[in-house]
Amino acid sequence: MSLAAERPIHCLSFDVEEHFQVSAFWSDERRQQWGQYESRVERNTRLLADLLATHGMKATFFILGWVAERHPDLVKSLAAQGHEVASHGYGHELVTTQSPERFRQDVRMAKKILEDLIGSPVVGYRAPSFSITSETEWALSILVEEGYQYDSSVYDRFHRTEKETRPGEMFQFCTSAGAIWEVPPSTYKALGFQIPVAGGGYFRLFPYAVSRALLQRLESQGSTLVMYLHPWEIDPQQPRMNGSWLSQFRHYLNLDKTQVRLKQLLADFKFGTIRDIAVFQKEMGRATCPAESPVAFPS
Ligand SMILES: [Zn+2]
Repeated sequence: MSLAAERPIHCLSFDVEEHFQVSAFWSDERRQQWGQYESRVERNTRLLADLLATHGMKATFFILGWVAERHPDLVKSLAAQGHEVASHGYGHELVTTQSPERFRQDVRMAKKILEDLIGSPVVGYRAPSFSITSETEWALSILVEEGYQYDSSVYDRFHRTEKETRPGEMFQFCTSAGAIWEVPPSTYKALGFQIPVAGGGYFRLFPYAVSRALLQRLESQGSTLVMYLHPWEIDPQQPRMNGSWLSQFRHYLNLDKTQVRLKQLLADFKFGTIRDIAVFQKEMGRATCPAESPVAFPS
């Protein structure tokens, strides 16, 4: 067996949305104009799929229902290539700004659109901007009721109650509707801080050598990495949006470096889908809640 074959397999994911749909540039007025902006998501996502194919790797694509309706062939093509098609909801509204009923409609609609396109169940969900928090914990029971088996929306900002769960490691929430796996993006614990090393703006901010060093330490500790990026992050030519200085900085920082760094990442680590690596292989399927020691957000 070659050394490459013995490398651990980690989870790589992409939140498939247009550059003009991000939370940093969100406004109700702009939401009404989405149909008027230039679409770049299909080109960028196909580029990502080509990069993955070059390395013989698969990934999870959390796709917006709004995007899937307009780019059905992209969704079908990703599924046909063996990638996991998962749900990013329909309209990219933060969970924190939705009512429970509106959230239910959003995740139900996205799941149905995606499943009708690929002809198989969609089991994973990621909220826009990781917006499932202690204030929106109710969203998890709705995800269970709507047939989702895992969520990947809770970033490093919360501490779990079970001592044996490690930061950045998968765990299960016990909701009133049953259990659901939580697959949090990776963080590296140092000096009492959870350093976000999972991707996105942090991957663009840190020099690649720093990201790689922290990810390699996590790997050597036996952690399964959970990484994420967006198609617009490899598109330095995207049209510029008006917004605050901070939003512009966060969104446009180092866009010209992301693709090169992603290629390095794919050379340095081995990746697969969340469904295959985290949920079904590692933990043997559907989550079940023990009556004792439920895991929940701290009150
Ligand atoms: Zn998003």
